[in-house]
This record gives sequence, C-alpha cells and structure tokens, in this order.
Amino acid sequence: MRIAVIGAGAVGALIARELCRYEAEVILFEREPDVGWGVTKANSGIVHAGFHDEPGTVRARFCALGNALFPELAAELDIPFRRTGAYVLAFTKGEFSTLRELLVQGEANGVPGLEIHRREEVLAQEPWVNPEVVGGLWAPTVGITLPWELAIAATENALKNGLELHLSEPVVGIEVSRGRVRAVRTDRGRYPVDAAVNAAGLFADRIAQMAGLDGLFLHPRRGEYVLLDETTGSLVNAVLFPAPTPVSKGILVLPTVEGGLLLGPNARDLPSDAREATETTREGLEEVIAGAKHLVPGLPLHKTVKTFAGLRPESPQKDFVLGETKVARFYQAAAMRSPGLTAAPAVARWLAREIALAHGLREKGNFNPKRTRIPHPADLPEEEWARLIREDPRWGRIVCFCNRVTEGEIVEAIRRGARTLDGVKFRTRAGFGRCQGGFCTDRILAILARELGVAPWEVTARGGGSRMVLGEVRP
Ligand SMILES: Cc1cc2nc3c(=O)[nH]c(=O)nc-3n(C[C@H](O)[C@H](O)[C@H](O)COP(=O)(O)OP(=O)(O)OC[C@H]3O[C@@H](n4cnc5c(N)ncnc54)[C@H](O)[C@@H]3O)c2cc1C
Repeated sequence: MRIAVIGAGAVGALIARELCRYEAEVILFEREPDVGWGVTKANSGIVHAGFHDEPGTVRARFCALGNALFPELAAELDIPFRRTGAYVLAFTKGEFSTLRELLVQGEANGVPGLEIHRREEVLAQEPWVNPEVVGGLWAPTVGITLPWELAIAATENALKNGLELHLSEPVVGIEVSRGRVRAVRTDRGRYPVDAAVNAAGLFADRIAQMAGLDGLFLHPRRGEYVLLDETTGSLVNAVLFPAPTPVSKGILVLPTVEGGLLLGPNARDLPSDAREATETTREGLEEVIAGAKHLVPGLPLHKTVKTFAGLRPESPQKDFVLGETKVARFYQAAAMRSPGLTAAPAVARWLAREIALAHGLREKGNFNPKRTRIPHPADLPEEEWARLIREDPRWGRIVCFCNRVTEGEIVEAIRRGARTLDGVKFRTRAGFGRCQGGFCTDRILAILARELGVAPWEVTARGGGSRMVLGEVRP
C-alpha cells in the first residue's frame, strides 16, 4: 500500500514516522526546502497539560494523550524536553475563580496533579512574579520542547525506517474518482497512491479543496514574540500563563529549552489570504511586552535577541479536524492550532492505527524508533570532546561563537539534509545566538558551499530567491 502524507510539520512528520511502523510505502511531500518551516517553526514550544480545553473536544482528548506520550517520544528521538510545570496566575478575584474553573476542566480531561496555590506559595516558587498576584493554578505536567527539532527528528527517524521524502515539492492536485483518492499531483509529477493524509497546516483547507472537500476554512491568527538571551532563563522556573481569554491562552512568560526567556504571543486575526504574514508590528510587540510585564515586571528587556511571529491555523469550529473524510482514503489532521504540537504524537499514533486497521496493514517488526541528535561538543565532558577532535579536527573548530557550534556539527547537519542557512541553524543553533548570525553567517555559507559542491552565491538562507551573496567581486 502506498500512502502520501502532505506537509512535513510536526504533525505530518510524526504521522509519516508512525506509518513507517507498518508494511506500507510512505511518501512525505513538503513544499518548503526543509521540514518544520510552517506553523511548527514559530510557536511557544509548550507541551500543554490539557486544562485549557473544553472537555469533550477533540483538542482536549489528544492534548492530554500527547502530553503523556512526550517523555518517551523525546527520549526515542533524542530531542530536548523539560517538564517545568506551569502556573496560571490570577491577579483579581474574578481571575481566581477562573483558576477553579480551569482546575475542574483539567480534571475532567484527566490532567494529573493540578493544585491551586496561594500567593505566598506562588511567590516562593517564582520570586520574580508580580507581587500583586493573588494565587495560581499549578500544573506539574506542563513541559517545554523545541518544536522544529521534533519535526526534524521524526523525519530523520522515518527516513531510517523507509520513508521517501520529497522536499521543495508542493502538492498541486489530488485525484479522486468513484469517491476514492487515487493519486497525488505535485509540481514535478503524478504519484498513484492508495491513501493520502492532509497535514498541510495553515494550507490544509486548500489541500482539502483539491480533493473536492469544501467544509474546511482556515485563516491565520498571528502571534508575536520577544526572545531574551540565555542569561535570562533562570528568572522563571515554570511556564507562566495569565488567566485565559475567550480568544487565546494569553501572553506568557516562559523559559526556553535553550536557556532563554520567551515572551508572547498576542493574538491578531488576519485575512484568509495573509498566510505568509509573519512580520512583527510595533503595536503587537508593545502588547506582548505589556502582557509579559504584567506577569513579571522586572524583565530585562535589554537582553532581547530576536522578535518573531507565528501564524495559527484558526477554523470556525475551533477544533481539530481528524480522520477519514467523505472522500474514501483521504485522511486529515487539520486545523491543528494550539495545542497541536502537544497533541501531535497522539494524533499521529491514532491516525496511523486507523489507516492500518482499515487497510489490514501489518507491523513491520523491524521498526527502529531511535534517533540520536547531532553531538554538541560544548555540552560534552572534555575527554569526549577531545576524542571527537582526534577523530576529526572539525569538531574542534568553533564557527558560531555565541552558541559554541563547531564545524563538525555543521558538516553533520548537511550530511543529514540541511541545504540552506536556516537548515543548518535549526539543526545546530549556529546563527541562533546573541549576534543572530552577524559573525558566523559567512563561515556557515562557505561550509555549505564546500560540502554541497556549489558556488557560495547558490547557497540560500531559506530557499527560493533568498540568496545571501550575488557573486564574486574579483575572480
Ligand atoms: C503563535 C503560536 C503558538 C503556539 N503555541 C503552541 C504551544 O505552545 N503548544 C502547542 O502544543 N501548540 C502550539 N501551537 C500550535 C502548533 O504550533 C501547531 O499546532 C503545530 O505546529 C501544527 O503543525 P502542523 O504540522 O499541523 O503544521 P505546519 O508546521 O504548518 O506543517 C504543515 C506543512 O505543510 C506544508 N505544506 C503546505 N501546503 C503544502 C502543499 N501544497 N504541498 C506540500 N506541503 C505543503 C507546509 O510548508 C508545512 O511545512 C502554537 C501555534 C502558534 C502559531
């Protein structure tokens, strides 16, 4: 059986990996030159507990399940994951009663360990929190991860287990006849398939339309962020939420797995056609800063390294759209706004099982769930780093000074599939530090050109026309 998965974000990559457990030929199509560059690239990276979602929704069910799967998945795929716990902070009596509602909701969703803490307890655990806080809902199972690393790791592991990956190859048509999906068309050709899975994130409604389905409508809801550098992460221990609004979970302050602090996101609805509008705005960032300072007034904003924005795939029904459609063998994992990252492992496992059961697919028996991350010598004991250098001196040459990334890591990232500066950056954190690539971009570019056997002006930041150099000044 041949199954196409459309979209290599966290959701599609994990679905492809799960399908690789079975006796099937799995093809993953991604329109970008790399995996994880859609919604998965820019979000809060929180593994939610599941108390924000209304009981009975698909989101609530898969969020709690996904959270429970995360520790094992993170260990299998060797990706960063830290259970920090989270506080929802209340500053008024009204907000305090919202905490009780969230606790009841969370318990109905099967979220373990929820407790309401008084002001003193909150401040003892989080001394930088606004002293006007009146209490907090403590959720110990909340964690943080690196979303794009999840997509990269799942794809790498799926490739080891037989996946066929087609990058820079947008799906442009779905062939349906006699009520059943027959083939997927891309800008390069036609692929006869026995089933297809729509995991195209913000573009899932367009893929659904290609299959003749018209019930899915998505529009982007932008969320802007401010990232503070790695000297700030210890200011808070847990993810800090305000009391939620009907529109979003609010503007948060949270530690990142890399040791920094992330502030945001706000929530701004955009027209349906603004699906590339990831620019930040002055008003948006001011809103983020005001919201974050409400939770933690003493934020060292002079340590800002970056601002960015992500786009949520919002739908009128506000819930995930999962499973087979009225077009037989055309499956969807769509409208996956937050907590889509958290839910992704559970959605992937469930959907792959549904497909396997429906088509009598057997498990392979030799599926290997393990993947190992690229070594980061700066985190290793000195003897181990020295051993790596003896094997290959490139492990001793630092290219990115902010994050102490070596040439060895960059070469390994290219070996694993990076073809662009962003591809290297997301795999190694080279160019992701305080100078944001100011001192290392030219060196990474030269390594990419050398390893890929192309001229430096053929190397791009993120594919398309994003070339960094135009040519030689002097031959
Ligand atoms: C601001 C913000 C904050 C969030 N915070 C959290 C959080 O803290 N925790 C959480 O659990 N969730 C969070 N989410 C939600 C989470 O990010 C998403 O649910 C998740 O990343 C969705 O992944 P995906 O794979 O469905 O989509 P994507 O990552 O967008 O993947 C879809 C892929 O399909 C590709 N594609 C599109 N069209 C085509 C085509 N025609 N052919 C081939 N490929 C195509 C795209 O290029 C893309 O790579 C947040 C989202 C946002 C925007």
